Amino acid sequence: MASKPKHPYTIVRGGKLVDIAKRRAAPADILIKGDTIAEIGRPGLAAPAGATVIDAKYRLMHPGLINAHTHSPGNLGKGMGDLWSLELLLTASPWINGGRTLEDKYLSAMIGAAEMVLKGCTAAYDLAAEFPLPSVDGLSAMAKAYEEVGMRAVLAPMVADITFFEAIPGLMERLSPALQKEVESFRYAPWKAITRQMDKALQKWPFDKVMLAVAPTIPHHCSDDFLIACRNLAREYEVGIHSHVAESKVQVVAGYKRYGTSLAAHMDGLGLVNERFTVAHGVWLDDEDMKRLGDRGASVAHNPGSNMRLGNGLADVRGMLSAAVNVGIGTDGASCSDNQNMYEAMRLASFASKVQGPDVERWVTTEEALRAATEGSARALGLHKQIGRLLPGYKADIVFLDLHHINWIPTNDPVNALVHTEDGTAVHSVMIGGRMVVEDRKLLTVDLAKLAAKAEASRVRREKITAPAKKLYERLEKVVGTFCPGLAKAPLHIHRFGASHHHH
Ligand SMILES: [Zn+2]
Repeated sequence: MASKPKHPYTIVRGGKLVDIAKRRAAPADILIKGDTIAEIGRPGLAAPAGATVIDAKYRLMHPGLINAHTHSPGNLGKGMGDLWSLELLLTASPWINGGRTLEDKYLSAMIGAAEMVLKGCTAAYDLAAEFPLPSVDGLSAMAKAYEEVGMRAVLAPMVADITFFEAIPGLMERLSPALQKEVESFRYAPWKAITRQMDKALQKWPFDKVMLAVAPTIPHHCSDDFLIACRNLAREYEVGIHSHVAESKVQVVAGYKRYGTSLAAHMDGLGLVNERFTVAHGVWLDDEDMKRLGDRGASVAHNPGSNMRLGNGLADVRGMLSAAVNVGIGTDGASCSDNQNMYEAMRLASFASKVQGPDVERWVTTEEALRAATEGSARALGLHKQIGRLLPGYKADIVFLDLHHINWIPTNDPVNALVHTEDGTAVHSVMIGGRMVVEDRKLLTVDLAKLAAKAEASRVRREKITAPAKKLYERLEKVVGTFCPGLAKAPLHIHRFGASHHHH
């Protein structure tokens, strides 16, 4: 089978297609024209003469999973830390993200894209930071990696004009004068310069499967002028806005100290909250915040793996769904999750809802988790009319699972099995836009041995360059690691930690 069909038509025969609503997988043939599904029908569906035939016998077909929140720079930082809160991870950023060349940016995006497609994910919302400001070259290098792998992405330069140490009230004062001087040297470019770079990239963006968006990283890490500039850019170019809102309790406490309101209320006041707006995490949103997001048609990218890994707590997904918030599912970056496995993310979304209390009706169903990881994420990416479902008119982004894999023996309820049983090991083939990207468990577009060699060379080089930043992290760790948990113990009307009692 050719990886690039010459004939405009492809016919997929003999597979079983997941029907989420009916919780079954019935035999179906899929006719594809170019990159789009033309028709879905019973076995034996007519196809134009000469169409490329794909044999999907013993395969379960489901829409490509969509990662609603990741960070491509994180892939080179995979597995670098253990006891990291969000605040410690942000402190470690100059160490884990330092010394990056243009080639590293490309490489890091390619590692993540390769992992995602091998694990059944066909599109991602990628928030990619460059320090001290984004560049057209950097964004283009990352987009090129996605295009070479053959994956879709919405790439959002992740930006800030206030450093983490300035954003958390009282933290800077806790540092010794020597440490204060050190952290002050990690300064972002002024917001006007950052905005000019984003504008430049948005003006002439040549990529097709990779689109741009705008990501003011964390509301209180951005001045209000900068948030407004981000809002205006998103309006002008009709692109998404994505921000980490209320990911940790520390952020919410800092937000109240700075604004006197919740973070979501502050962003709404500046006009950022609309149907193109995605909140990453939203663990510490309260009922009013959720209602506000729902009323505006906004989305939340739910990342249960990251929320547990960084000790941020358990998001109230039932509360979000009840408030009509669109919920997508993400993995978050590999420096804090540490894989890019959307099957695992769905499974954790289900499990995380089930440890929050005894009321079964508040738990997330497998159907809701699967819809969130497909249709919900698609809407967060702004691509819900093109991807997230397998229907005529939608892009042919199809995952083929091996029904002879042990995960599917026996095959009972396919929706339950996709969320609770599948872990990515049964992924046999992956089609994106009518093109096979993974076939017979092999990535067709990238040589993984070469990728490994490049990643190792990069690691060795950066380990040397970032040694001073690592030393600095070790000095800061003691201060941040005690000051921030202190803030997180402040009284608040929202409770999201797994245990209600703190141990002292
Ligand atoms: Zn994130």
